[in-house]
Amino acid sequence: MADFDVIVVGSGMSGGWVAKEMSEKGFKVAVIERGRKVTVEKDYTDFIDPWDMEHMNRKTDQDREDYPVQSKVYAFQSYTKQFWVKDKEHPYETAEGTDFRWLRGYQEGGRSIMWGRQSYRMSETDFEANARDGHGVDWPVRYDDLKPWYDYVERFAGISGSMEGLDILPDGVFQPPHDLTCAEIDFRDKIETAFPGRRLIPGRVANLTEPTQEQMDLGRGRCQARNHCFQGCSFGAYFSSNSATLPAARRTGNMTLIPDTAVHKVIVDEATGRATGVETVDIASGERKVMTARVVFLNAGTIPSTMILMNSASSAAPNGLANSSGQLGKNMMDHHSGARGSAILPGNLDKHTYGRRPNGFYIPRFRNHTEEAEGFVRGFGYQGRANRDRWWSAMGQKGIGEDLKETARTPGPWRISMVAFGEVLPNEQNHVRMHANRTDKWGFPVPVLDVRWGENERNMVRQAVRDTRAMLEAAGGLDIWTDDPESEPAPPGIGIHEMGTARMGRDPATSVLNEWNQSWDIPNLFITDGSFMTSGGCQNPSLSYMAFSARAADHAAQLMQDGTL
Ligand SMILES: Cc1cc2nc3c(=O)[nH]c(=O)nc-3n(C[C@H](O)[C@H](O)[C@H](O)COP(=O)(O)OP(=O)(O)OC[C@H]3O[C@@H](n4cnc5c(N)ncnc54)[C@H](O)[C@@H]3O)c2cc1C
Ligand code: SF4
Repeated sequence: MADFDVIVVGSGMSGGWVAKEMSEKGFKVAVIERGRKVTVEKDYTDFIDPWDMEHMNRKTDQDREDYPVQSKVYAFQSYTKQFWVKDKEHPYETAEGTDFRWLRGYQEGGRSIMWGRQSYRMSETDFEANARDGHGVDWPVRYDDLKPWYDYVERFAGISGSMEGLDILPDGVFQPPHDLTCAEIDFRDKIETAFPGRRLIPGRVANLTEPTQEQMDLGRGRCQARNHCFQGCSFGAYFSSNSATLPAARRTGNMTLIPDTAVHKVIVDEATGRATGVETVDIASGERKVMTARVVFLNAGTIPSTMILMNSASSAAPNGLANSSGQLGKNMMDHHSGARGSAILPGNLDKHTYGRRPNGFYIPRFRNHTEEAEGFVRGFGYQGRANRDRWWSAMGQKGIGEDLKETARTPGPWRISMVAFGEVLPNEQNHVRMHANRTDKWGFPVPVLDVRWGENERNMVRQAVRDTRAMLEAAGGLDIWTDDPESEPAPPGIGIHEMGTARMGRDPATSVLNEWNQSWDIPNLFITDGSFMTSGGCQNPSLSYMAFSARAADHAAQLMQDGTL
């Protein structure tokens, strides 16, 4: 008799969904999480202001030393550092001549606490892309397979957004959108006139603007528009595992969360070819244990889940578990985000905003969709915002005491900033592998990342920079700044959307998972973190991880109920 019906490895964005779905269906679920338990009282700092912090919330030299990779990210601040891993304790390597910024948080809720909450569906164009231009393998699903699951997860998570009727960015089940600022409305009108077919819409974010009864029953409240989300939200007003899926799982009485425990390996019975459970390591004591279950879901994040499978190699699976295709670890993608721009938008000096909207605007993909571009396939979309300049920068960033008050009293002009997120092609050369002999202090092999931008990505970034400038100029922008189109784009990893290393496909010879996120080799093993992604689109991917997780859990539950698993 197994210890549990289902083991879920990792309690982040995707693992939370599997935990909720499986425990609501009556299965006994263990969520094994390598990080600590998170509590609002101890971990969230959304009621702390920069001036309440030592050094006005600025990073210290010690922070830079302990977190050399993580501390460079915008969301890492003195009062959010508890959510980021100490790089020194969690090493990784990059192949010679490459750079990869691996940005992560190991705790209950994973990176669902620190995410920017931008939530977009992939479209039929995205699901057809590989088949159309021959990169990667064909997705085994299409948009219509996912549509009901996008509806389902949006309704529960709570996504605010506007209905736009765009094929490239399907509408969903939305709560009311945040307003655009007056400068964003001007910008929208000018670029939509100058470039017919381009659209600027409110960002779609997982912040509750009109909570449903179901959300309030979980203790979640309306977003107060304070924009402290990276510090955690005491109102549960943005979606995280902690605010939504884990409480839903917990109230069933069927979920056991096991914190401070890392999964090292998946254990397989070689006679039956099925997973029987996992081997774990206690983070504090180093003690190893075995936990058993009928079904195992890997949700540790793309790189950790891939490492767990590689580390589970055996004589029957010498190249790593679930890897008869040889594709495990390959096809690593991210989104490139190397086309930034900013400008002053003249006018509107008698207007300001009320509150601090935790959002901005989105310009859906137009290249190689409505407008052809030479030199690359696929496309990019933009995220951005326009605010009164000095007010924004006064928030904890500049000045102190009288200077700060003066800055806050004297708003500057409206300044817009924007950045493109672009699709990265699936490419077998871009991969993660286990270091041959280096391990961390818990005996985990250190991952080696070997990911490079290709000509497609470089050409796309150049076009995105040119388009950034053209739009800022068309809007009458002053003091325009953009990235240099000829400079090397920001390195892989910076998009924080690593994905693709255990892709799903139609053929077991060329993919790791089938259309249900189920291993072709080990039928009771499922993977629904970003590693399953067959291609990446240019949209922020977490909403897709949620939809695929709920769908895969539903499928696994059916197989368990009819006795197949
Ligand atoms: C600053 C920031 C902004 C972002 N903005 C957006 C955005 O706007 N939109 C968007 O779509 N995405 C965004 N993302 C990305 C988003 O957070 C990730 O796509 C998402 O969290 C990935 O979900 P996951 O379940 O794969 O992994 P995670 O959420 O990272 O969860 C993985 C969990 O597994 C645990 N774990 C790891 N190894 C083991 C092990 N061996 N054993 C047990 N447990 C383990 C970890 O501790 C963690 O809790 C952002 C991320 C960051 C950091
Ligand atoms: S802006 Fe909204 S979601 Fe963000 S911390 Fe404040 S209340 Fe929470």
